[in-house]
Amino acid sequence: MVADKTKEQVNKQEEKHDVLKSTQTVIHKALEKLGYPEEVFELLKEPIRMMTVKIPVRMDDGSVKIFTGYRAQHNDAVGPTKGGIRFHPNVTEKEVKALSIWMSLKCGIVDLPYGGGKGGIVCDPRNMSFGELERLSRGYVRAISQIVGPTKDIPAPDVFTNSQIMAWMMDEYSRIDEFNSPGFITGKPLVLGGSHGRETATAKGVTICIREAAKRRGIELKGARVVVQGFGNAGSFLAKFMHDAGAKIIGISDAYGALHDPNGLDVDYLLDRRDSFGTVTKLFNNTISNKELLELDCDILVPAAIENQITEENAHNIRASIVVEAANGPTTLEATQILTERGILLVPDVLASAGGVTVSYFEWVQNNQGYYWTEEEVEEKLELVMVKSFNNIYETSTVRKVDMRLAAYMVGVRKMAEASRFRGWI
Ligand code: GLU
Repeated sequence: MVADKTKEQVNKQEEKHDVLKSTQTVIHKALEKLGYPEEVFELLKEPIRMMTVKIPVRMDDGSVKIFTGYRAQHNDAVGPTKGGIRFHPNVTEKEVKALSIWMSLKCGIVDLPYGGGKGGIVCDPRNMSFGELERLSRGYVRAISQIVGPTKDIPAPDVFTNSQIMAWMMDEYSRIDEFNSPGFITGKPLVLGGSHGRETATAKGVTICIREAAKRRGIELKGARVVVQGFGNAGSFLAKFMHDAGAKIIGISDAYGALHDPNGLDVDYLLDRRDSFGTVTKLFNNTISNKELLELDCDILVPAAIENQITEENAHNIRASIVVEAANGPTTLEATQILTERGILLVPDVLASAGGVTVSYFEWVQNNQGYYWTEEEVEEKLELVMVKSFNNIYETSTVRKVDMRLAAYMVGVRKMAEASRFRGWI
């Protein structure tokens, strides 16, 4: 009996943390608010295409390991699908599906001519050699080659993937396609057609959202106390940009623990010492837990790690005035409601982290035209896109009296729904 109850509780917990289900719930609400009929939800609630592949890889010790990979394409009514590839031991089919839907929303919010896509491979790159990672990356591209391409579906980096992995993937695709195809993938090294500003784009976009949100709340960035969860691509650059803007970074974390200093951490030192997976806390003894980090007294909290970090369990203890989601899906729906009721301004992931895909789009445009822009040009264009998108969603949220997440979903889903309607799909 007791065991049954525990199982029931576990199931309920899992359901609440089911990122696909929660994104579907908000999409449904957004479509309802916009007055779309139920069949639009039926079309948009799942990706239109989902590929599962098995990738055999010869490991360094001579054995062969079979990896599982996914590529989800949510909706291609607006244009080719677009989104990163994640290498992580906890990747699941459901998660990749949800991530592809989020990509559609991001592309709608920043008004790019794309639908959303996402890929993932169940693996732990922290325990793999360079050679093994290269063979895995190439094997994945061979496995999904029929459904991807510069005008079909354009991958990019995500959790634990980087420009080197993009380079191997681009090379593999170019061999299959028999053309040099830089526009097949974004987030490439500069010498292979990458864009200036792509590496820092997600963090730049988050920084712009923090600045705009702080203005609305009358918070000065200079001296503001900021906590950043996660020290990967988004979190580490973000900490640097906020530090450069005069904010005090009083807490950071990685997968193994967190660092706290109410007087401000030495961000440049931490950046210097982090490894390529964003690990840095292992070098210190006086660490705190990720749970404690999220509950620190601060002005701005930026979850920049993984999903389901702010839940109904800790939402009441969050002490920030502004929460800006740099990660995908860090706050559950229950927690979103709690934070909103408590008057905390929550800038949702699909808006805050859209700077990455925006500069990916710039990279793809540059690849297609064969003409490359300066860093200043990229930054200027990104600034315009992010400020416009932030204002649009803030205004939608105020006018329609909904929280910023629902407002972002309403803006994000509309273009997709309209494009699907014009095409005669619904
Ligand atoms: N992986 C990033 C994201 O979740 C970027 C995707 C892209 O650049 O296409 O937004």
